[in-house]
Amino acid sequence: MVDVSLDNLDAVVAQCVGAISDASSLDSLLSLEAEMVGKRSPFTALQKSLGSLSPDERKSAGAQLQAARQRVEEAFATRRTSLAAEHRIAVLEADRLDLGDVVSARVRVPVRAGHPGIISLTQESLEDTFVGMGFVVADGPEIETDWYNFEALNIPPAHPARGMWDTFYLDIGEPETVLLRTHTSPTQIHLMEEAVAQGTLPLHAVMPGRCYRRDTPDARHLASFHQIEGLVVDEGITFADLAGTIETFTRAFFGPDITSRLRPAYFPFTEPSAEFEITCTICRGAGCRTCSQTGWIELGGCGMVDPAVFAAVGIDTDRYSGFAFGFGIDRCAQMRHGIADMRAITENDVRFLELFS
Ligand SMILES: [Zn+2]
Repeated sequence: MVDVSLDNLDAVVAQCVGAISDASSLDSLLSLEAEMVGKRSPFTALQKSLGSLSPDERKSAGAQLQAARQRVEEAFATRRTSLAAEHRIAVLEADRLDLGDVVSARVRVPVRAGHPGIISLTQESLEDTFVGMGFVVADGPEIETDWYNFEALNIPPAHPARGMWDTFYLDIGEPETVLLRTHTSPTQIHLMEEAVAQGTLPLHAVMPGRCYRRDTPDARHLASFHQIEGLVVDEGITFADLAGTIETFTRAFFGPDITSRLRPAYFPFTEPSAEFEITCTICRGAGCRTCSQTGWIELGGCGMVDPAVFAAVGIDTDRYSGFAFGFGIDRCAQMRHGIADMRAITENDVRFLELFS
């Protein structure tokens, strides 16, 4: 920096102001400040030299010098403010988040949406099949009285057939009078009572729902499971209608190469009764381990509605006859999708759940 004298004061101030406004950082501004107005600066040297002047001269020169110095210091203050603002903007720019990247990164993460489970999907598909065959879908309570679950279905107290169902009883009212339904059949009783009371017979209904039995869960059984039950009550219904309905359903639901057959069986609420089997869906009838080399798999039970059941709900057996059938929705899903162990259905393993999305 050039020496400062009272003669070149304006020129030096102009030079300083120019250098200050060119300073590109707060650091360089600080070193300029030390150089221009610090203890070793020409301004300070000139200040000290004023001591040799006469008092009048010193007063005038001091005022000039003070004004010049003030202009330089104001230039520093102005530049410092603008550099601080620039610095702040630079910091904000550096810290800026590119939300475009963030958003596209989120989109690349696969979205894991939930979806209905295999039982719900199978139930919907079964309902669709039966609705296509002319049935309506009906619902009933899961908590039942002994009368709806057993007695009205021709299973009086102490009847040996009660051993077919290991029942969960609820601690309500008289012992063993309120229970978790062991099958969907009590819904048949509700429907028939309603139809008789309202005079809306005939009936063509399917009744899906959850049932309960005191079973220890294993590969083929669950303590809480799902059934779908069908009931037809009309004039002139015969066993041939039952067999035809089972066969039509089997082909519609499992495919045209799967067929059905009936084998004699016993159920208290139907007479005659049958178990129905379908072509093994794994080996398509050729014989495999799942079907014990027979080519057939048991799906459910069926039969003509027992007159004792019609009597319990007040249906005139001289005019009406009917059939009923039922099978497990879980078992149906197991066979349709080749699920080796039923317990997978209730264990909520995401790897299993995602197989059926
Ligand atoms: Zn097989």
